[in-house]
Amino acid sequence: MEDCIFCQIATGERQAVVLYRDELVTAFEDLHPIAPVHFLVVPNRHIRSVNEVTGADEDALGRLVSVARRLAHEKGVQASGYRLVINTGPDAGQSVFHLHVHVIGGRKMPFRFEDGAQMR
Ligand code: AMP
Repeated sequence: MEDCIFCQIATGERQAVVLYRDELVTAFEDLHPIAPVHFLVVPNRHIRSVNEVTGADEDALGRLVSVARRLAHEKGVQASGYRLVINTGPDAGQSVFHLHVHVIGGRKMPFRFEDGAQMR
């Protein structure tokens, strides 16, 4: 998609600190990191959000998790831990409408569902 910033990063048309790219996914540093480790992995194909995922995207999404794992290990957070987050839609605060997984680590993360979060 022409005016999608993550499509532009995936094609190399827009600058980013690219960590990895192959035929299915691209990984790059988040512009506004919220932790010492914070990068994004996106499918190269434009998918608006998890709501638009189809069976045809399964290879790309499998690759996305496996690239997230490998880069998290390279960044040294495999033992301390890290979080994979895919914000989907307005309540989750999705701001860029090209599916992306945040990989966040290098510090303790406060939110746990047991910490009084109401799930109903
Ligand atoms: P979300 O709120 O889940 O849609 O996350 C969007 C993320 O994209 C935010 O963490 C932004 O900091 C990040 N972001 C926005 N523009 C860029 C960009 N040009 N390069 C890298 N990260 C970006």
